[in-house]
Parts: sequence; C-alpha cells; structure tokens
Amino acid sequence: MEGQRSSRNRKSAKRSRAQSNERNRDAKKSKSESPSSSSFLEKMKARLSGGHFRMINEKLYTCTGEEALIYFKEDPSLFNVYHAGYQAQMSQWPEQPVQKIIEWLQGHSPSLTVADFGCGDARVAKSVKNKVFSFDLVSNDPDVIACDMSNTGLDSSSVDVAIFCLSLMGLNYPNFLKEAHRVLKPSGWLLIAEVKSRLDPKTGGADPTKFIKAVCELGFTPVSKDFTNKMFVLFYFKKQEKPSSKRKEIQWPELKPCIYKRR
Ligand code: SAH
Repeated sequence: MEGQRSSRNRKSAKRSRAQSNERNRDAKKSKSESPSSSSFLEKMKARLSGGHFRMINEKLYTCTGEEALIYFKEDPSLFNVYHAGYQAQMSQWPEQPVQKIIEWLQGHSPSLTVADFGCGDARVAKSVKNKVFSFDLVSNDPDVIACDMSNTGLDSSSVDVAIFCLSLMGLNYPNFLKEAHRVLKPSGWLLIAEVKSRLDPKTGGADPTKFIKAVCELGFTPVSKDFTNKMFVLFYFKKQEKPSSKRKEIQWPELKPCIYKRR
C-alpha cells in the first residue's frame, strides 16, 4: 500500500516536472523571439567583438611592424575585426582625421603623387584624383599593397606626399618615418594625424615639441600644426632640400598606445 502510494507520487511528480519543463521551454522560446532579447543578443555580440577589437588594437601598439605583419598573416580575418571596431570608434568622433587629410589633398594639385602609410580601407585613394600608393598590413582591395610600411618597396625620392593617419602604431614607429623620408622627393610633404592623448603630456602622452624635434632631425622642416580638433592632432612637415650634415642619434619620444574605451 505504502509502496503503491509512493510510486503514484513519483509518477505525478514526474508529470508535473515535465509540464513545468514544457512551460519553461515555451517561455524561453517566446523570450528568444521577443525584440528585447534579440537586441540583448546584438549587444552581447557587439561587446564581444568590441573586446576583440581592443585586444588587436593593443597588440598593434605593443609590437613592431614586422611582428604585426606576421600576426595578421597568421589570421587575416583579425584585420576585418580590427577595422569593424576601428570604424565603430571613429563614428563616435566629431571629426575624422582622414577627412581632414582628404580635404588638404583636394586643396592641392591632383598631380601630386601620394603614399598612404597604414591606409586602412584606402579611403584617401578612393576620395582624391591623385595617384595614391596605399600600404597596409593586409590587402582586401586590389589597390592596397600589403607590407610592413617600414619597407614599402617604393623608389627613393619618388612621391610628393606621405601620409600617416593614426597609423604610427608600431613600437618601431621611427622606422616608418625613415621610410617616408626615403621615398619622399626633396620638399615633399609629410602629413601626420595622431590621437591627441598620445601627444598630450597632460594625459601622460609625449611632449609634441620633442616629437617635432625628432622628425626635424630626421630631415624635415615643420610647416604647421593643428591642435584644434578634440580627438587628434595634425602635423605638416616638408622634407628638407638637402640631407642634414649632422649625424647624431635622434631622441624619439615614446608614443604610448591609444587604448580605446569600452563603448
Ligand atoms: N589611415 C586609415 C587607417 C588607420 S588605422 C584611416 O585613417 O582611416 C591604422 C592602420 O595602420 C591599420 O589599418 C593598421 O593595419 C595599419 N598599420 C599599423 N602598423 C602598420 C605597419 N607596420 N605597416 C603597415 N600598416 C600598418
């Protein structure tokens, strides 16, 4: 008797568990179909890819150009993750530095030959009439040359304008500028846009005057600088006509990584 009752109890408990599971399943199903949960999923996905972007970004700021080239060669899909995150960050900036550079080029002769060092999605080449050589670590576009930009393969004294738009990322950034100096014609332009915090001593960044001094010692003359933008600074230099006779070691300031905040 006792045995029969307990077996009935067990059966009814099992039935009610099954019903409750079914209810939970239905509840879950309707939840997963509701718009609030799909936006939650979107948010989670964005958070994950945002974290991945910040990881790749930090890697690029803490290795040499050569190491960065190997990093992306091993998994070129990381480049797309990086650029999706980069564009998401840029969309929050009131002004885009690449747009400033495009406007500068549009205000000068289209016959100037340009080298875009660390071109990203090659927006410069797509927006101006000039002949543009676009370099980046990965090429997803037939017009982009994949290389470490310390070694572009361009002929010496062959271009009129060298651009670095937020691309002085490697620990060996002076090598990128040395390559620009090599490929520029005498009196050629060097345009550098960098994240403001990297060149603002108030936020732990380098002293911009030390940076300008080092670039000048490499063989450039400063023409102007623009600190009016909230997020970035712009420097305009010209390559000196004649190489400087002084051959002393250049004191390059350390440029700290730009760590993007979680959005
Ligand atoms: N100039 C573009 C992209 C900036 S993001 C723009 O303003 O929109 C910085 C770019 O520099 C990235 O695409 C990164 O891959 C590239 N880069 C960093 N180090 C490099 C190196 N050593 N050689 C070539 N490209 C490099």
